[in-house]
Amino acid sequence: ESPYVALSSSDSSGKVWELDGDDSISYFSKKKLRVWCRQPRGQWELGMVQSTSGEEAFVSLSNGNVMKVDRSEILPANPDVLEDVDDLIKLGYLNEPSVLHNLKLRYSQGMIYSKAGPVLIALNPFKDLQMYGNKYVSACSQRTMNSPHVYATVDAAYNKMMRDEVNQSIIISGESGSGKTETAKIAMQYLAALGGGGGNCAIENEFLQINRILEAFGNAKTARNNNSSRFGKLIEIYFGCTGKICGAKIQTCLFSLTSEITMLFEQSRVVQLARDERSYHIFYQLCAGSSSDLKEKLNLRAVSEYKYLVQSDCMSIDGVDDAKNFDQLMEALDAVQIYKEDQELIFKILAAILWLGNISFQVDRDNQIEVVDDEAVNSAAQLMGCSSQDLMTALCTHKIQADEDTIEKKLTLKQAIERRDAIAKFIYASLFNWLLDQVNKSLEAGKKCTWKSISILDFYGFQTFQKNGFEQFYINYANERIQQHYNRHLFKLEQEDYELDGIDWTKVDFEDNQGCLDLFEKKPQGLLSLLDEESNLPNVSDLTFANKLKHHLHPNPCFKGERGRAFRVRHYAGEVLYDTNEFLEKNRDTMSSDCIQFLLSCNCELLPLFSKMFNQSQKQSVATKFKVQLFKLLHQLESTMPHFIRCIAPNTKQLPGIYDESLVLHQLRCCGVPEIVRLSRAGYPTRMTHQEFSRRYVFMLSEANVSHDPLSISVAVLQKFNIPSEMYHVGYTKLYLRAGQIDALENMRKQIL
Ligand code: ADP
Ligand code: MG
Repeated sequence: ESPYVALSSSDSSGKVWELDGDDSISYFSKKKLRVWCRQPRGQWELGMVQSTSGEEAFVSLSNGNVMKVDRSEILPANPDVLEDVDDLIKLGYLNEPSVLHNLKLRYSQGMIYSKAGPVLIALNPFKDLQMYGNKYVSACSQRTMNSPHVYATVDAAYNKMMRDEVNQSIIISGESGSGKTETAKIAMQYLAALGGGGGNCAIENEFLQINRILEAFGNAKTARNNNSSRFGKLIEIYFGCTGKICGAKIQTCLFSLTSEITMLFEQSRVVQLARDERSYHIFYQLCAGSSSDLKEKLNLRAVSEYKYLVQSDCMSIDGVDDAKNFDQLMEALDAVQIYKEDQELIFKILAAILWLGNISFQVDRDNQIEVVDDEAVNSAAQLMGCSSQDLMTALCTHKIQADEDTIEKKLTLKQAIERRDAIAKFIYASLFNWLLDQVNKSLEAGKKCTWKSISILDFYGFQTFQKNGFEQFYINYANERIQQHYNRHLFKLEQEDYELDGIDWTKVDFEDNQGCLDLFEKKPQGLLSLLDEESNLPNVSDLTFANKLKHHLHPNPCFKGERGRAFRVRHYAGEVLYDTNEFLEKNRDTMSSDCIQFLLSCNCELLPLFSKMFNQSQKQSVATKFKVQLFKLLHQLESTMPHFIRCIAPNTKQLPGIYDESLVLHQLRCCGVPEIVRLSRAGYPTRMTHQEFSRRYVFMLSEANVSHDPLSISVAVLQKFNIPSEMYHVGYTKLYLRAGQIDALENMRKQIL
């Protein structure tokens, strides 16, 4: 049995990874050569073929044992010299054990970065490797450092922007805890250094402050990551025509509208916690760090006195000083010009949320529920700017507008608790969005001078668990879209280009995921439309929804109905089983209009503002809003040249030095690395027109050789520098180079310069 977390039964390792078929057959009969040999428990061990007979081989393993194995259990291993390559496409044999071994070897030596063709793979070291900062920035920008690094990827993007005058994007994805947010920060740090201007570090400092704010309000401790961002974000950094930064804009992509926040911004974190998890950092920071003056104003208590915070039994994080972080947060708020009065409003709202959580209910003599009239409700009401009575009524009754009349209906206990929590979540999500607007206002000050931009996307990667719900459904759909962007950019466009340019090039057979996207997006019978339709019908349930899907979608090859409420989707990264539990509920808008009316009537300045913001966003379903936002985001990325960074968590314990092979393999598959490597090896990722190429390299030829025709110059350069003929193709208008060749030329160029 394989130890690898297979994505689905149809996902055999042989299919995705290139197996070098012919070689592996000839290999089998060769003796004394290195092979990977699958062990009874599934892991791969390095060994040497001693002898073969028929379908069997005797392999001596490094521990001295000799094993008799079937040939299907053996894969060729790379020679020593190819043990530690910085780009997976350089591996002679590209099978699973070789790739894993290569990454593991590098990881053990602190080399966390490797390339897979055009993609940067970043393994989370979970310790400070001292490989960032000024020294590395200059090494990278002066090209004295040749190993893969986030800096190098960002440097390439920056130079491309400057040279080609095209907007760029850096797309970072990966599982929770894999290092996306840290990587985004490292990327921003490098851009700040390049585009900071005048050697001052004002921009770097500003980026630092922004990240502090985003993290205080948007990050929380989870079991997988002590500082887990609970939202995806796109940061667009604007550059003037001299290459200096002149502004920035943050979009919390796909997670920003108030109602969809119910699941995607994980508002529920405000009110419901699992063990080992905390709510958003800001609540703990506020309780620990506010001055006694502020505490008094907000009637603020210790963390342990708030029900929303104590549920998880986890109130502090090792090595994290919440009080100190609160001081830094206040500095950061100052830095982005959020005035003291507004800061106090923010803290008021936060305290109100905490007190809301302490509000309890009881049943009165007529068996009707009522709010317990205690400090909690009084404090909450005071902070929100309403009377305690109004708040109590709002929490216990549902007002329905019927023509001219208002009908009042008493809520059940469960409904009242849900309503209390819904208000808390709504306020928090609105606060986050409002804060983001303020930050953006301060960042956009210099936007007028914008010439080009680089966008950095920090986004949940493809997810698959034992049980997959609404969140995974959306995240994976979004990833499907991003994957298509990737495919289109790197492969489709290139192939069309090859053909147009008269290059005889056998088409690489890459998997187009349009079929899966159609499954989601087709109208009226795609997953999203059907979900919206069902959400609007009376007397429906998750089960009727699941049946509806089966009824309409069963002939679709990307869809498979399962028993009960479940269904499967064949994603680009493998099959995923979804459970429709809570799909309809989560797709509808949860905030009822009478609650909005109530908040509008509150005196605290921000609450009416939030309600207005909500009223303006039309009452669309979550599915619809999500799609609109996703398309907006992709539209922005569409016109950019993308650079991909795939982050990988080598273990789930957040500890250095542990490399869990099956976990790494699972993530490599999820982010399509096998495909990428296979395609990159087959294709010619570098393309330059003959003019461009000859202009850049002509000086490397001795004058006697120089002709006037760009094409001849190109060919002369290639020959002079011994670029092997299988490494390039000469088209009508362009030169096509295999991966790695341009780096070699650039290095020679630099030596000559
Ligand atoms: P994600 O955003 O993917 O959930 P994070 O970027 O928050 O993950 O990283 C999780 C933790 O891993 C960080 O808090 C940090 O401790 C560690 N980490 C991530 N990247 C690096 C790195 N390049 N160097 C050192 N530690 C890192
Ligand atoms: Mg993150």
